[in-house]
Amino acid sequence: MNKDFQNISSELLEIYSKKLKVKSCPHCKSKRFIKHSRYKYTQRFKCLDCGRTFLPSTGTSLHYLHKKEVFIEYSKIIREQGLLSLKKMRELCNISHLTAFDWRHKILLSIPESNRKLKGDIFCDDIWFVYSQKGRKLIPGARRRPLPEPFKHREFTVRMISMNNHSRNLMKIVKVGDLYFKDFFEAFANSIDRNACIYNISKNDQLKKFAKEKAVKHIIPSIEEAKNNYKLFQTRSEIKNFINKILKGVSTKYLQLYAGYYSYAKNQVFDAISEKFLNHRHVWFTYTRLEDIYYIFTKLATKVLFAHENKRFWKSTRNMVIPERSMILKIDEDLYKYISGISRIY
Ligand SMILES: [Zn+2]
Repeated sequence: MNKDFQNISSELLEIYSKKLKVKSCPHCKSKRFIKHSRYKYTQRFKCLDCGRTFLPSTGTSLHYLHKKEVFIEYSKIIREQGLLSLKKMRELCNISHLTAFDWRHKILLSIPESNRKLKGDIFCDDIWFVYSQKGRKLIPGARRRPLPEPFKHREFTVRMISMNNHSRNLMKIVKVGDLYFKDFFEAFANSIDRNACIYNISKNDQLKKFAKEKAVKHIIPSIEEAKNNYKLFQTRSEIKNFINKILKGVSTKYLQLYAGYYSYAKNQVFDAISEKFLNHRHVWFTYTRLEDIYYIFTKLATKVLFAHENKRFWKSTRNMVIPERSMILKIDEDLYKYISGISRIY
């Protein structure tokens, strides 16, 4: 056997030979590429348009990973046991705290999105979280100290809208501050089937307006119904519990990623080494530019002061421009595109 194949698990070989599908150049999206020698245990390709070379894993959650075998184990633990604490993952996989943190985010950035519309009875709730800068050093009030007064103001509440029917959950961080009709529209106009019926759990007038505009049936559950039907509020209590208790709070920078995890894992097997997760080639870019995207977000969509916290730097994406569409957001409009949309940044 070729020496490059020694000590390589069959799982890793399977990922490279079967699960990763190379359909275009990850740098420029051209479909004109050729095989270009081999790299260790896998095929290398060369793009005929931009001239750059790439591997099947370029841009994915596996990009630049030294310990891919351990990453596979890490992914399996999440699949079997859910998101465990970083401390636990560090111990189980014998990796550093930072690696456990980074891998988790790369995995969360790989969550597949579905274009299927929500059908039937849709329970819609408006869920808020206090703006969190957990883990961000240099910022007064971050992490476990009581929040300074301005942070208690509703201008500093992060608004998440949840839409779920019996088989699927959609959760989007829409903005910081009050919700308007157009926020619902931006976030959900394309996700609701025409024959759906929206249950307006939080009795939000703007949602009512949205339903009217979409010509979708709309019901505000009566007080009796709400009292007797705890399921109406189940999503709210579950996601709040997940974010605030189990994860002990999540920085707003990452909130959409964790909401994505909750939504996906609730109804489906969360398998980060499955084909569906692995074939996302925006992961590396988004992961390395997350701080920049967050910076723009705080500037445009919040009144939170931004403080640079880390000096981590990745040469490979530093000169790539964050696409225009994420730059044009205004305060009221598109927080949703900011954080939820980062997984669709390409
Ligand atoms: Zn190319």
